[in-house]
Amino acid sequence: MRKFYQLTRAERVQALVDAGLLSTADAHLLLADAPLPQATAEHLTENQIGQFPLPMGLVRGLRVNGLTHDVALVGEEPSVVAAANNGARMARAGGGVTVQVPPHRVAAEVVFADLAEPEAAVRLIEAQVADIKAAAAAAHPSIVRRGGGLQAVHVQQRQQFVKVTLVVDPQQAMGANIVNTIAERVGRLLGSWLHQPPLISILSNYSDDAVIATVAIPVNAVATRHADGATVARLIARTSDFAMIDIDRATTNNKGVMNGIAAATIALGNDYRAVEAGAHAYAARSGRYLPLTQWRVADDTLHGKIAVPLQLGVVGGAVGALHRAGLAQRLAGIKTVADAQALLAALGLVQNLAAVRALVGPGIQAGHMHLQAGALAVAAGATGDEVARLTQQLQAGDKTLARAQHLLALMRQ
Ligand code: NDP
Repeated sequence: MRKFYQLTRAERVQALVDAGLLSTADAHLLLADAPLPQATAEHLTENQIGQFPLPMGLVRGLRVNGLTHDVALVGEEPSVVAAANNGARMARAGGGVTVQVPPHRVAAEVVFADLAEPEAAVRLIEAQVADIKAAAAAAHPSIVRRGGGLQAVHVQQRQQFVKVTLVVDPQQAMGANIVNTIAERVGRLLGSWLHQPPLISILSNYSDDAVIATVAIPVNAVATRHADGATVARLIARTSDFAMIDIDRATTNNKGVMNGIAAATIALGNDYRAVEAGAHAYAARSGRYLPLTQWRVADDTLHGKIAVPLQLGVVGGAVGALHRAGLAQRLAGIKTVADAQALLAALGLVQNLAAVRALVGPGIQAGHMHLQAGALAVAAGATGDEVARLTQQLQAGDKTLARAQHLLALMRQ
């Protein structure tokens, strides 16, 4: 039987329908290649001049907390989906990924600068938390009716600034607009007390409430064609140790982690800039930029861990407007923010595993350039059947644009 990646695109979609993972309507949506309705596109950006399609790939069999999921990834970089599938396969050998998700909270900061009596302002605000909560509820009554809203208020003096942190439960939304609405209303109220408008009232994309995912894989499962599992696992752990002391490596490590997380965030119609900013700030929370993942070997087992905050939503923002985002949610079995956070943290971990294993084994370029040949063939001008033929020819030998163009010219003679 052919594997999923060996099927044609139409066969893959049909296989998902047959497995009960996609409805027929969703299959039509995928295969239609229809652009966004003009009204939607017009609504999602200013000065709209067109649309910009990207391919959607699928990570199959990502096992998280005992359940198996299929996660859609949208992006332009070949090899990300293949690596994620490879990582998911290795993680399954260890029973999959275990994830703990913290309560979903988004904080806002209302900041006052150069107050005449900052200490008195701090005391005043701390004494009026009930009024602040009432103003927050009035600013966004529907989130309170849904069981969320402002949960906590913290006040600090920071040099010549007074910072009021509003911790909000946005329920199943990512929460940026909800939190900003609350922050601006509370900012006006505090400004009336302090006889000075706030400097800023805005959510923070920072959070130290990280989603934690771990995996424990028998070393045999990470063996390569050229090296046994124990050796590969030890090299993965040593690369992880090096990332702890080297920012060059830590940054690239985290870029690899975000390959999967960002691509899944886009597929889910979410704000990938918020997720990226939060992840990298978390990586630097100690004052030093560190890897988001760690790997170590004990008792013939490779242990991996990721800690990453994930500001995601399953409603609101552009999620409802982008029909394929809803499809990606259904395909992955995502019903809540916690589901999405668990899957994306697990994805980041297995993506990292596949990347570091390739790095210490055959090297990144072998797989990359293999897949890059397809993109090169298209860039050289190949169309239709030529793409597959040229990709095949490019596999052996230099993978350069000049060679691709030369081979294409020969093919067309
Ligand atoms: P929305 O402003 O769309 O608010 C959430 C919406 O979802 C509300 O209309 C709410 O309805 C509805 N909803 C339905 N069910 C639920 C539920 N169970 N829980 C919560 N809400 C529900 O989205 P967000 O506040 O999440 O803001 C996200 C958007 O903000 C993204 O597009 C992001 O790009 C953008 N943004 C990001 C910033 C940043 O990250 N720095 C800054 C500014 C904007 P109802 O009103 O009836 O409650």
